[in-house]
Amino acid sequence: MEKEKSANELLQEQLVFKNEHAALKMTEAELQAAQDFAEGYKKFLDASKTEGDCVETVIAMAKARGYAEFVPGNAYQAGDKVFVQNRGAALMLATIGNGPLEDGLRVIASHVDSPRLDLKPNPLYEDTGIVYLKTHYYGGVRKYQWPTVPLALHGVVYKADGSMVRVTIGEDDNDPQFMITDLLPHLGREQGEKKLSTAFAGEDLNLITGTLPTNDDKLGDKAKFTVLKILHEKYGITEADFHTADLKAVPAYKARDIGLDRSLIGSYGHDDRVCAYASVMAEFAAATPHHTTVTILADKEEVGSAGNTGLDSNFLLYFVEDLCELKGAKPRRVLRATKALSADVNAAYDPNFTSVFEKRNSSLINHGVSVAKYVGSGGKGGTVDASAAYMSFIRTLLDGANVRWQVGELGKIDAGGGGTVAKFLAFLDVDIVDIGVPVLAMHAPYELVSKIDVYMTHRACAAFYV
Ligand code: MN
Ligand code: MN
Repeated sequence: MEKEKSANELLQEQLVFKNEHAALKMTEAELQAAQDFAEGYKKFLDASKTEGDCVETVIAMAKARGYAEFVPGNAYQAGDKVFVQNRGAALMLATIGNGPLEDGLRVIASHVDSPRLDLKPNPLYEDTGIVYLKTHYYGGVRKYQWPTVPLALHGVVYKADGSMVRVTIGEDDNDPQFMITDLLPHLGREQGEKKLSTAFAGEDLNLITGTLPTNDDKLGDKAKFTVLKILHEKYGITEADFHTADLKAVPAYKARDIGLDRSLIGSYGHDDRVCAYASVMAEFAAATPHHTTVTILADKEEVGSAGNTGLDSNFLLYFVEDLCELKGAKPRRVLRATKALSADVNAAYDPNFTSVFEKRNSSLINHGVSVAKYVGSGGKGGTVDASAAYMSFIRTLLDGANVRWQVGELGKIDAGGGGTVAKFLAFLDVDIVDIGVPVLAMHAPYELVSKIDVYMTHRACAAFYV
């Protein structure tokens, strides 16, 4: 028999905020839905290791669901579904709403580029019988994490005649893969004394690509020649074609359940394909919303969003202008009324590394989608600090849809920090806040998320598209 609660106990329950594990507040059906949602997400991850792969995968999924390429000037009706592809590296999907554009759009922006190792323009060389590909890391990587990881190569190469070949090596079970070496512990004494940040330099991240010499006394760099012959036979490319290539080395392993209870997913590239998938699936499910939806999958976030496929460019604005032209609406009025989510991952509190987190304001794994009022560094530097009014809008929305959510800062105030695409949308005079999935080991070659948090992020996106 439970004792009857005192008046103060009841009042305390009412007054005190408790950040609870989401599973404790979910039905069996919801927990199952989170497991089911993860199955689709894992397949998506394995098919989408670069922004180009992502865009291709999502366009195929969208076409299968009735999306057609947007044609400026065409007439569109409520419920019509369109997409705009930006140079194979970024994508926008939209569902035309049945309300006036002046009521504002509903925009969710995530990014589909992830930290990785890009090949340099002159990557190929031989040293002491070993052939290497030199890389230039892309985004914020902890360099020491990348040696002794099986790597695959993804990308495109343009040949001298202007024709393009696609390259994917290392994903098929029968493919060879690539690797960066590390020192054996027996000889690692001096390296072990170095700081983590300097133990590996950018110029040390060289992929082993071959070791077999072509047996011909007349040749120099015999092993490099073997590699070039293989590349020429398979793809018709020469060494000079590396100058006109985008080749990216990414971890070759697949997404897997982690933990005996299968509560987590381990994978490369959760940041930020997890929010991309969560928002895309909400976009697909939007039937005839009042507000026209725009789901953005952006490129270049990991390097500051610069470039015409990143959000520090006008590709979103120009699409909004095209939409407005169809309905005779003024873009700036539409943008002024627009509400947006910057859907990006947040750092999950890690009990192994407590010193960089402030527990009361950190996102906890499995506690639901994280809403970050601000991120930034050095005292909210460079961040969008969402207003109390917009936070209130989000709170009402999420609570109304029974979405499990939590707040979250990126970490301790002076521990570091980071930015998102939020500021580039705020620049267009839209309301925006960062929301997304808490991640353990963010930016590592293998990152961890919780299935419940992924599902709740999807539910938050779905609730936003009305
Ligand atoms: Mn991100
Ligand atoms: Mn990132």
